[in-house]
Amino acid sequence: MSTIQLTSKLPNVGTTIFSVMSALANEHKAVNLGQGFPDYPMSGELIALVSEAMRNNYNQYPPMPGWMPLRESIAEKAAFLYQSNINPDTEITITPGGTYAIYSALTTILQPDDEVIVFEPGYDSYIPNIEINGAKAVTVSLVYPNYNIDWVAVKKAITPKTKAIIINSPHNPTGSVITESDIQELRKIVEGTNIFIISDEVYEHLIFDSIPHQSILRYPDLRERSFVCFSFGKTYNCTGWKMGYCIAPPELTKEFRKVHQFNAFTCHTPTQVALATFLKNKEAYLSLSSIMQEKRDHFIKFMDQTRFTLQNSSGSYFICGTYEKISDEGDKDFAIRLTKEAGVATIPVSAFYHNGKDDKVLRFCFSKKNETLEAAVEKLVNY
Ligand code: GLN
Repeated sequence: MSTIQLTSKLPNVGTTIFSVMSALANEHKAVNLGQGFPDYPMSGELIALVSEAMRNNYNQYPPMPGWMPLRESIAEKAAFLYQSNINPDTEITITPGGTYAIYSALTTILQPDDEVIVFEPGYDSYIPNIEINGAKAVTVSLVYPNYNIDWVAVKKAITPKTKAIIINSPHNPTGSVITESDIQELRKIVEGTNIFIISDEVYEHLIFDSIPHQSILRYPDLRERSFVCFSFGKTYNCTGWKMGYCIAPPELTKEFRKVHQFNAFTCHTPTQVALATFLKNKEAYLSLSSIMQEKRDHFIKFMDQTRFTLQNSSGSYFICGTYEKISDEGDKDFAIRLTKEAGVATIPVSAFYHNGKDDKVLRFCFSKKNETLEAAVEKLVNY
């Protein structure tokens, strides 16, 4: 055992709940509705494009900010979807995943003692990403059980030290989405301030019931203070590729790239070459909403046979549900027991609160084959 002394930079952090629950699912051969990833194959055409790029010798470093044709395809897509005019040279950086883009954006802007407004429940990387930069997360609770934003509470949480607000729509873990009126409220709050916006839009294409995605890219006045983060993994069913990108105005991108160039430096070349072509296929991303909405609806219908009560989900891979008719134990204990005894892994939503607030809610991931969803529900019916 090593005797060297190390002072932890993240003393309150353990292994992420996603790793914990996936390991438990594997150990107990449970159906894994925990960690968010699809269990069906990605596009064969996209795989073929990567192989082709490798065979064509696209195997050396691409430019630090990313392969230019890919950045051009992203700019075209943003213009098509959000009427946004983005310069691929100065405003887009390809990153190894969406989480990395968010981490880099926070590292770009934060000074010690700055404050960042974070909504809870919220994705579990945000607070450690803030704290590792010596800054402080100021949490604002989403309003249970619809998980919408209480803008009066946000206003109260703002101080002279507020450096940024992190928004996330469609929202992980709850599937709530922000509306145009949320954008108006956000606008009122940041207008005339030096507050940055970090917008986590990794589920931009997974939005249901014909609701339009309120991308920050639609709003030039908000975009000028924003780092908007995206993920190819969620869009193309390849979460293991760890590919994403960050869109930010030139002055912000310049600083973002200073952080990125001495960390990952750049991303996997053949994948970028392939994505540059594949992104031009609009159908591949436009069809996602209806595919995923069908899965959500199928899962809701199936879960009706169980004693779980599902909440709403308007987007993302996820839907939350309470188990109050089954047990009154804490959500972590219940999720562990459900994995071991029923053979279904989920994520306890208290993991998305800094103080472990427990509303006795579990997150279910429905981006699975119908047979996987059915197998899970069969196990839950008698529980
Ligand atoms: N984003 C995925 C989820 O919410 C997990 C990512 C991870 O495992 N770090 O489940």
